[in-house]
Amino acid sequence: MPETSTILWIRNPLACADANAAGGVVIAGSRIVEKVPAGGQPKQAVSTTFDASQHVLLPGLINTHHHFYQTLTRAYSPALNKELFPWLTTLYDVWANIDQEQMEIASELAMVELLMSGCTTVADHHYVFSGALLDAIDCQVETARRLGVRAALTRGSMSVGRDDGGLPPQSVVQDEQTIIDDSQRLIDRYHQPEDGAMTTIALAPCSPFSVSRELMRESARLAETNGVRLHTHLAETEDETAYCQKLFGMRPLDYIEECGWLSNRTWLAHGIHFNDDEIRRLGLAGTGIAHCPSSNMVLGSGLCRTLELEAAGAPVGLGVDGSASNDHSNLAEEMRQALLLGRLQYSPSEVTHHAVIRWATQGSARCLGRDDIGGLEPGQQADLALFKLDELRFSGAENPLAALLLCGAHRADRVMVAGRWRVTDGLPCEIDLGALMARHDQAAKRLRKAL
Ligand SMILES: [Zn+2]
Repeated sequence: MPETSTILWIRNPLACADANAAGGVVIAGSRIVEKVPAGGQPKQAVSTTFDASQHVLLPGLINTHHHFYQTLTRAYSPALNKELFPWLTTLYDVWANIDQEQMEIASELAMVELLMSGCTTVADHHYVFSGALLDAIDCQVETARRLGVRAALTRGSMSVGRDDGGLPPQSVVQDEQTIIDDSQRLIDRYHQPEDGAMTTIALAPCSPFSVSRELMRESARLAETNGVRLHTHLAETEDETAYCQKLFGMRPLDYIEECGWLSNRTWLAHGIHFNDDEIRRLGLAGTGIAHCPSSNMVLGSGLCRTLELEAAGAPVGLGVDGSASNDHSNLAEEMRQALLLGRLQYSPSEVTHHAVIRWATQGSARCLGRDDIGGLEPGQQADLALFKLDELRFSGAENPLAALLLCGAHRADRVMVAGRWRVTDGLPCEIDLGALMARHDQAAKRLRKAL
């Protein structure tokens, strides 16, 4: 970590996502203090430099949607080749057995994987609170702090089980008051409202098919009172639209609007099945969309209308989604997926590598309600991802920035969070990767044996 007196110049990158920082950026403490133009020198005296001439420099990538615990159920045979609802009902019974130790290992593995892919801010949506796993968010906060990664953790919830017409088994649903009380406890204990926050808490009832209308409304009230954000899955599949029509007599967006959620406090995972009028309303409200291309392809859910949403005014960010529907946690790879999927819908000239990098940085930051991350502007946090193009897949590439997406970058060489290097030479600092994978593999095996 640079001492407070250290002024570090990340000097002359091979390429940079911000054309005005072609000469690099200057870091003091946890913040960027200067962008250096091409061929220029910093205006202030620097005490140390990092030669970035072999690196492509991006603002740290920001992941807006994940379920860390699902790294324990990757490529799980009984859930393969299914659409969302049957996929969920197969996996709920497995997830119901996850305990605190497994949760901690799964969270660490997911965060390290994200970090190594150039991600500096991780969001997680955790909604499984069975008897053996009541302190999942506390465990995630501790793990994120230990790793030095910025985290937007959401207190998820499920309150409608199979007995009441919902999808999840009764063993993983909680009553509304327990959920509200725990949400308030987590906000009071961990949420940092300030600029530069390393930990934020948001409220995240899981989905229309696992949460009561009352809990949706009460969550919106609690978020407003505490100044925290709201997150949920919405408009992911046609099945969900049919479920909402049947149960609530309205489409998913009308339902969340009625519950007080259509605002710029909210970001929604997936946001696929919106009509033109709904996109207009989302844009007017400034509601964010966490676009999860790999997950949408794996489950065959559909195509998010990213460009129409952005044009209407809705922030669009990227999410890898949980590791049972992706099944990796690699945000650099997710950028490539977003580029390719986008070009099935729109002209290649519209879905450029610049547009996708914007989604993974500024767009994601807006989804999380933050302007202190996602860019390289002076005053913003020193969250950086630096990629080397020294693998076979990049050989011969002419445009370094485009090569990240087109050749398939998947591993950052260096990652900085709040002015501290957290990945160097492609490896996470202070982490024994082999030991972590061995513990994680054992935890996954133990979970499968519990069935
Ligand atoms: Zn999800």
